Amino acid sequence: NNIVAIVGRPNVGKSTLFNRLIQRREAIVDSVSGVTRDRNYGKSEWNGKEFSVIDTGGYVRGSDDVFEGEIRKQVELAIDEADVIIFVVDVEEGITPMDDAVAKLLRKVTKPVLLAVNKVDNAMREKDAIEFYNLGLGEYYTFASISGSGTGDLLDAVIDAFPIKPEPTQEEIVLPRFAVVGRPNAGKSSFINALIGKDRYIVTDIAGTTRDSIDTKFDRFGFEFNLVDTAGIRRKAKVKEDLEFYSVMRSVRAIEHADVCILIIDATRGFEGQDQSIFWLAEKNRKGVVILVNKWDLVEKETMSTRDYEEKIREELMPFTDVPILFVSALTKQRLLKALEATVKVFESRQQRIATSKFNEFMLKVIEAYPPPATKGKYVKIKYCMQLPTKTPQFVFFANMPQYVKEPYKRYLENKIRENWDFSGVPIDIYIREK
Ligand code: GDP
Repeated sequence: NNIVAIVGRPNVGKSTLFNRLIQRREAIVDSVSGVTRDRNYGKSEWNGKEFSVIDTGGYVRGSDDVFEGEIRKQVELAIDEADVIIFVVDVEEGITPMDDAVAKLLRKVTKPVLLAVNKVDNAMREKDAIEFYNLGLGEYYTFASISGSGTGDLLDAVIDAFPIKPEPTQEEIVLPRFAVVGRPNAGKSSFINALIGKDRYIVTDIAGTTRDSIDTKFDRFGFEFNLVDTAGIRRKAKVKEDLEFYSVMRSVRAIEHADVCILIIDATRGFEGQDQSIFWLAEKNRKGVVILVNKWDLVEKETMSTRDYEEKIREELMPFTDVPILFVSALTKQRLLKALEATVKVFESRQQRIATSKFNEFMLKVIEAYPPPATKGKYVKIKYCMQLPTKTPQFVFFANMPQYVKEPYKRYLENKIRENWDFSGVPIDIYIREK
């Protein structure tokens, strides 16, 4: 999945553009899952091509006060994480010193950079925009983020600029891809090293390599899998003081690239906001998730039982609580094999296909026992259902009046599916369609 990053100094209209790009899709996703959304990350689609959008401005602290250093970080972040960068400037204000500074950084980048001139909504402004050739970034696109005019051409250009990625080899398709994600210092590196051995975790870092993420194949305890590492994550050490702040953003590519995310949390700190954001990213991308509570060796067993701890985490996961949670220690290597087994299990569950006959046999009984509530005196009838042949589990139920089947009933169906088949750690989608 391609990633588009929006950069630019504060108040040029980055967020308005961001909201415009993600709007249509977000509306759909939100009504289904009801999860809180991240202001700075979303899914978009244009001409049938899906991509992710990041408003890097939102990730940079104090970006309302203008700090050149902060903008620099924002741009570096975009350079690391994105496939295409949209650089937004404002025709009303013309080229500011800050724009110059950003352009200087972007001129060095080999990734496609699209210069987007905002607030161009008449012929006069169109003429004024010519000034932006002086930024040395070549062709520019004019648009007006408020009305949306011009965004279509900009999006055409974005799609055209996506890199052509090599088809994955047969082996890459078959092997599960796992990404180890989590807050800084949660113990991700320790976990990886404990699992596969330091010497085996050799990442070739060739300058100018076009591969944006590195899958390294491993063979451990009889399991074969790829660990996903990304350019962005390897670069994290450069911004040590901002690690906390960037960790969610840095996880985006790894998560999108993986089948299952191994979310490492620090037992001594608990499940916090950053953990929640990363979890939400994985869930939103319909990836499998396993939660590993690491550093369990440091927790006083008398004060906190695994069951209490687990319960607290599950409360934070609402409504998606059917997730494996394991207590591990990368230091003492406790339960690492269990963790890997659980991860592989989630991968398999995510791929399982339930035979239509079996699915109907079970679900129609479940529906009969507790049918959708009547609305306006009308009875909803569901006579047939099936799993769709999609990459992630999706189920469709055919009804005479699908519009009357509401969220709570869909949750009931989902819970019943989860009770009868193992989808632990796997997000699933339920659709009600006209029969
Ligand atoms: P990362 O930033 O997520 O990769 O975290 P690191 O793997 O670098 O670990 C951060 C710190 O936590 C290091 O000092 C580790 O030695 C320590 N650490 C990691 N895992 C454990 C664990 O299971 N138990 C204890 N006691 N310390 C751990």
